[in-house]
Amino acid sequence: MKELLAKQFAQRFATNPVFYASSGRINLIGEHTDYNGGFVFPGAIDKYIMAAINVNGTDKVRVYSADLQESAEFGLQEADAPKEQWARYIFGVCREVIKRGFTVKGFDTVFAGNVPLGAGLSSSAALESCFAYALNDLFNENKIDKFELAKIGQSTEHNYCGVNCGIMDQFASVFGKKNCLMRLDCRSLEYEYFPFDPQGYKLVLVNSKVKHELVDSPYNKRRESCERVAATLGVETLRDATMDMLNAKKADVTEEDYKRAEYVIGEKQRVLDVCDALERGDYETVGRLMYETHYGLSKQYEVSCEELDFLNDIAKESKVTGSRIMGGGFGGCTINLVKDELYDHFVEIAKTRFNEKYGHEPVIIDVVISDGARRCE
Ligand code: ADP
Ligand code: MG
Repeated sequence: MKELLAKQFAQRFATNPVFYASSGRINLIGEHTDYNGGFVFPGAIDKYIMAAINVNGTDKVRVYSADLQESAEFGLQEADAPKEQWARYIFGVCREVIKRGFTVKGFDTVFAGNVPLGAGLSSSAALESCFAYALNDLFNENKIDKFELAKIGQSTEHNYCGVNCGIMDQFASVFGKKNCLMRLDCRSLEYEYFPFDPQGYKLVLVNSKVKHELVDSPYNKRRESCERVAATLGVETLRDATMDMLNAKKADVTEEDYKRAEYVIGEKQRVLDVCDALERGDYETVGRLMYETHYGLSKQYEVSCEELDFLNDIAKESKVTGSRIMGGGFGGCTINLVKDELYDHFVEIAKTRFNEKYGHEPVIIDVVISDGARRCE
């Protein structure tokens, strides 16, 4: 990718650029925990956005998207927002850096990526983090701390792209480290690295390519359930609740709210248990906990769908070590921890059986836990 970008940059701008990259991410476990003050457990992956950049001595930014084969040009004032959606990510990052009192001057850039769009791997966070990191290095002597870089990406989504996201994706993209997952405490924003180097296993996503559009805003409904139970238990968020506390108030909550809270409380513990298992190198336990999360998301939190349950069942039947829905639910990918010797069999079975039942093949995406935002020498 670097050679391609160098060539395209030379054709357009005839100067020597610097290269930066940042990655997409997976979340191994810890789903629907962020708004409950709990833990998430993401890692950066070997799929990334890379940009060739050079300052151009003007007050304009000139951008070429090598993948879309489109260019855009914009100034750095608020009124200069470009109309191309993809360019708004870069404009937003520039604006958010400036809003925080740091410097951005005109630059030329060509960028490309191999993070599949909209597959739940957060290509948008990779794009934001790549440029946030680059602007920090090029114009600000790296004075902006890494957490602020992640927040610059998050604010870009909020203020320029209409996506009201949490901090996990940008955090993972900025802080990602090879062979490490990061446990992020969504309440305190403290984080810790844990080793993830599953020798003899592969991590593979199976993208169902289905997305069920739901009319009754199930996401908000889940949040409301959690808030109601927290209020009943007298805690700020379910992060502070235990199963004993929930059971003591069982008569005071609806059956549905009980199931939702049961999932959230269980999931908080599962993240901690996965971390313990990883410190022992016990990937079998990690896998078992992934299945438990899938069960919880499907039967307690009820955010799965037929297609994802089907893929989970296939994984189980194929003796895959761990498998679960990744992301908010109602479609998208499963994430699977698969022994090397079972990999070919599992992929084949998942593709054919899914195709037989739903009329299209799921997309297989292998991932390796890798570095996040960086300058590429
Ligand atoms: P995701 O879940 O992958 O983050 P989003 O819809 O949030 O999906 O972000 C995808 C958007 O990010 C694309 O529509 C595009 O505007 C931008 N984007 C991501 N990757 C690229 C790329 N390689 N080239 C151009 N734009 C990209
Ligand atoms: Mg996104």
